[in-house]
Amino acid sequence: MKQIDALRLKLIDKIGGLTIYDTLKRYRSEQYLPAKELGAIRLNKLDQLFALARKSTSYYSTFSSFDELPVLNKKIINQDPPAFLSNSYRDKLIKKCTSGSSGTPFIYYTSLQGQSNLWAGLLLSWESAGYRFGEKVAFVAGNALIKKSMKHLVFYNLMNIDRYPVAVMTNDILRNYVETIRKKKTTIIYGYVMAINNMADYLLNNNIKAPSTLKAIVCTSEMLSEKARTNIEKAFGVKVYNQYGCNEAGIAAFECEYHKLHIISSRSVFEINDEGNLIGTDLANEADIFMKYDTGDIVELSGEQCSCGRHYPIIKSIVGRSADMITDRTNKKIHSTFFTHLFQRNPSIKQFQVVYDESSIKLLLMVDEQFSRQHQTDYINAIKTNLDFESYDIRINEKFYTKNNLKHSFIIDKRQPSQEIAF
Ligand SMILES: [Zn+2]
Repeated sequence: MKQIDALRLKLIDKIGGLTIYDTLKRYRSEQYLPAKELGAIRLNKLDQLFALARKSTSYYSTFSSFDELPVLNKKIINQDPPAFLSNSYRDKLIKKCTSGSSGTPFIYYTSLQGQSNLWAGLLLSWESAGYRFGEKVAFVAGNALIKKSMKHLVFYNLMNIDRYPVAVMTNDILRNYVETIRKKKTTIIYGYVMAINNMADYLLNNNIKAPSTLKAIVCTSEMLSEKARTNIEKAFGVKVYNQYGCNEAGIAAFECEYHKLHIISSRSVFEINDEGNLIGTDLANEADIFMKYDTGDIVELSGEQCSCGRHYPIIKSIVGRSADMITDRTNKKIHSTFFTHLFQRNPSIKQFQVVYDESSIKLLLMVDEQFSRQHQTDYINAIKTNLDFESYDIRINEKFYTKNNLKHSFIIDKRQPSQEIAF
């Protein structure tokens, strides 16, 4: 990092009471540490965190070891949120709001250290995609990622990040976004897959050249399909990198130059439970302490060693949200990835959504003009073979259901009345 950029990041730290600079520096070296060495550092941190949790929170006061802790989720925490707040944390609490699988917001707090780790992880993920601190970044995201207060404005300004909200995306807005990204000499686009993919379609359909200053695109928050990756790369002419995170669990993962998804294991301890869900403990949040937090994501880890030389463990695949399961009348369950595979070889299908309740299932498809009726029959038959419902329906180019977090949902379970669906 250039001297001037280091000073700028240190200034950001000073204003916010953060330690992003030091944390990033630590990550940069810890990612190459032998797994054993890093493991020892983490276990030591975990012991300290457990001891702190036990003496300073009511929830953990009754447990005598980390091993005996049950798995946590939003529902358990929401029964008594203050029980997880440490009474020995005296610094500023940073309020976080995330959307649950149901789309209803979940509020928790993080410490200054937790917030510093979050940003350091983000910068590390951009760096491995070619970013240098100080370069222009475009945030293409919904409310969960884009904060609007004055303090945030100053912060984003110093970080050299421009924000592009995705709540409404008409062709006029897309044109404006692309031209602003070009004018501002943006090097990294970071944001939601579907929104960036919309931008990609806009470029391709209108034969518009992508901004030449772009180095890479980093996608986050939604499942990144191979199809979307290829489409975005084709439109923008740069590589796409995936980024995965569950901040409550302290988990952040980034794609390296060899396109392996590495978990920043400096920040968390984690395991995969019997159902395949990723469970994590944020070692950096000593304010609102969540240990063994269920991310709700079904993830496969890989034991392989990456050619990039990093020893941060690799996520082999993110199978999907455990909420993205469809349950039929016979209680048989299949995951939304069934449909991803089903449509993989059909370039006419741009996006899909499955809406179901106790008796019916409806497949919404966004398709181009090459899509034929025969496909419709084939897909209905494929669903009938695998899932038992009273009625089956397929709708072409109808508007998708959205939840209030604005992320695309592959599956809408209408059996759950609390889901807060809005068009
Ligand atoms: Zn790697």
